[in-house]
Amino acid sequence: MTSQEIKNLTHQYIMNTYGRFPVAIDHGRGARLYDPEGREYIDFTSGIGVTDLGYGYQPWADAVADQAKKLNHVSNLFYTEPAARLAEILCRRTGESCVFFANGGGEANEGLIKLARKYSFDKYGQGRATIITLKSSFHGRTVTTLKATGQDVFHNYFFPFTEGFRYAAANDLDDLEAAAGDDVCAVMVELVQGEGGVLPLNPEYVKALAELCAQRDWLLLADEVQTGVGRTGTLFAFQQYGILPDAVSFAKGIAGGLPMSGVLASEKCRDVLGPGTHATTFGANPICAAAGLVVQETLSDAFLEEVKAKGAYLRKGIEALNLPCFGKTRGLGLMIGIEVKDGFTNKDIASKLIENGLLVLTAGPGMRLLPPLVITREEMDKGLEIMGRVLA
Ligand SMILES: *Cc1c(COP(=O)(O)O)cnc(C)c1O
Repeated sequence: MTSQEIKNLTHQYIMNTYGRFPVAIDHGRGARLYDPEGREYIDFTSGIGVTDLGYGYQPWADAVADQAKKLNHVSNLFYTEPAARLAEILCRRTGESCVFFANGGGEANEGLIKLARKYSFDKYGQGRATIITLKSSFHGRTVTTLKATGQDVFHNYFFPFTEGFRYAAANDLDDLEAAAGDDVCAVMVELVQGEGGVLPLNPEYVKALAELCAQRDWLLLADEVQTGVGRTGTLFAFQQYGILPDAVSFAKGIAGGLPMSGVLASEKCRDVLGPGTHATTFGANPICAAAGLVVQETLSDAFLEEVKAKGAYLRKGIEALNLPCFGKTRGLGLMIGIEVKDGFTNKDIASKLIENGLLVLTAGPGMRLLPPLVITREEMDKGLEIMGRVLA
């Protein structure tokens, strides 16, 4: 099919919930994507932080194909090796104690919320179910995680929302204490707010927050759906902040492009969700888990160091272009935000870059770059060249 035929069919038959850019993608290699007519795009998006090993990565494709031929699905009523091995690796590499596997980020965060509420219910009974989240956060699109999201624009249309969330300003412990009360069971944060605009939390704030949570027996929940799986230059961002959250959600990059997510829980929380309290039919799917194992094998410590170096290289390259529309860059590893100056809009900039062969994302009022973690210097240079040429 041609790009135009794909667009027409999409408009006719897929629910119109996305504001898409006018590009159809057919295949990819490394950090390069191609439309059906063969036009090349440099990818600084990873399908919104998902394809950490890029496109056409042979070990990943082989593992997926082999597992698909061997066993596609049996449900969690039985045991399977790929999920057990992936859970072991995740626990060993993080210091967490056990894993619950699910399918998407919002669903993983629902797991965090259920875990926190049941932990508190088991220990203190009812009336201690409130979770504090941060302003400018994003936690998902389910009726509950919309309400957990600390942005008013998400609290519309779908009333009634789930109760039990209050919001505090990021990096402000006084504001968090003011929002607290006897009814709180947990605090949920993104260590780098993604959709909100690539806003890293201050390390001092995070340390103090972890201490406060421990004192009050509030669970510290880290939403690492976007920051997890090597994106920030460590396997999980919390490892750079010197904390061990009580529970962590992950999703996007975990299986390199297949739908998988989950919750990592600490020793204190490992028995909170017992048989019958939480489940999902597709969770721990063997094909997704086999893909996840290749991601874990690839993300060695040396590879993660390279993610940090590549992130620094790309940020330096962008700042050196001195573009009239861009201010400072920020972020961690290959999760990069670029300030957009007054008089320019991020959507227009994104459209121009995409038209000219560079795929980018927006977040909050700025730009957001999430290139595949395997991106090469040469591919980054190509992207920078397009940026410089189009936006000068
Ligand atoms: C993307 C994202 C989610 C939602 O994940 P879905 O897979 O779209 O449900 C939740 N939290 C954060 C931080 C995210 O970046």
